[in-house]
Amino acid sequence: MSSVVDSRTTPTKEAATLTPPMTPPLQSKALKSDVVPSDIDIPDNYVSWTLKHQKERPPIGWHNWWQELEWISCLVLTVTPAIAIWGAFNVQLKWQTAVFSVLYYFFTGLGITAGYHRLWAHRAYNASKPLEYFLAFAGAGAVEGSIKWWCRGHRAHHRYTDTALDPYNANEGFFWSHIGWMLVKPRRKLGVADVSDLSKNEIVRWQHRWYRSLILLVGFVLPTLICYFGWNDAMGGYVFAGAARLCFVHHSTFCVNSLAHWLGDTPFDDKHTPRDHMVTALVTIGEGYHNFHHQFPMDYRNAIKWYQYDPTKWFIWVAAKLGLASHLKTFPDNEVAKGQLTMQLKRLREKQEGLAWAPDSNDLPVVSWETFQQQAMKRPLVIIAGFIHDVSSFMDEHPGGRHLIAKMIGKDGTTAFFGGVYDHSNAAHNLLSMMRVGVLHGGMQHGLDDKRVPPAQRLRVARYTELASPYASSTACSDSEGMLG
Ligand SMILES: [Zn+2]
Ligand SMILES: [Zn+2]
Repeated sequence: MSSVVDSRTTPTKEAATLTPPMTPPLQSKALKSDVVPSDIDIPDNYVSWTLKHQKERPPIGWHNWWQELEWISCLVLTVTPAIAIWGAFNVQLKWQTAVFSVLYYFFTGLGITAGYHRLWAHRAYNASKPLEYFLAFAGAGAVEGSIKWWCRGHRAHHRYTDTALDPYNANEGFFWSHIGWMLVKPRRKLGVADVSDLSKNEIVRWQHRWYRSLILLVGFVLPTLICYFGWNDAMGGYVFAGAARLCFVHHSTFCVNSLAHWLGDTPFDDKHTPRDHMVTALVTIGEGYHNFHHQFPMDYRNAIKWYQYDPTKWFIWVAAKLGLASHLKTFPDNEVAKGQLTMQLKRLREKQEGLAWAPDSNDLPVVSWETFQQQAMKRPLVIIAGFIHDVSSFMDEHPGGRHLIAKMIGKDGTTAFFGGVYDHSNAAHNLLSMMRVGVLHGGMQHGLDDKRVPPAQRLRVARYTELASPYASSTACSDSEGMLG
């Protein structure tokens, strides 16, 4: 059966064939019923076992491609654009039909985004029966399979993102995740994902039962009739509001699996491929903030900022105001902010690691006052805050003049540096730290902590493993104000 027009697999069959041998066989008796979660007896090692042992279909080559094609999907996905292209050159586009086609695009597209995706696949809100019927009807016009089949694949996509158990695994490339996965038979069975809640839903069952009739009715008959009775343009209705519109809806929603896993950045998490981008949002009726979506899939929003383009969110919000939807789920702002902060810190850490820092005091030789004195006869060494600095490269650059540094060679310039002669800037202190060549034995007097840590190293991005180290206080944590505050 086709991936585009019908249901192909049931969780019951998969679960039974995927069971690793080391676990008790699934209770086929219980699984006979659609209402028992298909993953109720899922073994702990399910993912690794399945990836390792499950057989894939043979590679596609010249000898077998015709056996491996998903013919009905191929036909739907090639004939539809062919009709649209033919129509573009041979059928006059009336302005009423043009406007209607765009509206019909949003109508059927929202059936997928607000219905199939956010309502049924993710249960991001509750819909009243009239709204559920409306979305099931509209979604059928997008000709992307029944709700049950679509959500089955989408839940596997979220559960096994970027693995071979993800039906549109983005690691297989842009073409595969966009459309390739539908053109050929699945290379292996989808990962188990439960849709027993949908099996119990009367509207989902209704749509599944009448699916073939509904796609013809909503996909083609209805737009043709509306354009015919509205402004006597049956042919335009069929070509533009039917075929061309369907082609746009198809590739628009397919972009959620391809473009949204390829273009943009990862403000919430970079473990997997999903990305946020405004362009993706524009072409997918607001499904473009996909990095957010994969982190917080039960959130009814994709875009969390008011100015970001997410008409699907606006639609659900308006439906709630009209009393047609309720229980709109949002992830707590505090937890969303944690995800963002994690990524911001990660980027700051990369920047931090890209800079050169003063040598760690543990890596510097500890030198006695006498040795320091001897060495200072040979090269310009100055002590500041317990550290010995070789200032030879800097003496001529010193804005206050060479003479002020020369005066301090072989001496402790701490007081002079920190305000006695001039209260040096943070930048000067940072630069000074780069000239450290040793630590004066017994030179770490109390009260010098603030002066020993250069300003650029007082607030640093540190990993938790580093914080646990005995040197945490000098490499990580926060500045003293933060600690006291
Ligand atoms: Zn995704
Ligand atoms: Zn999703």
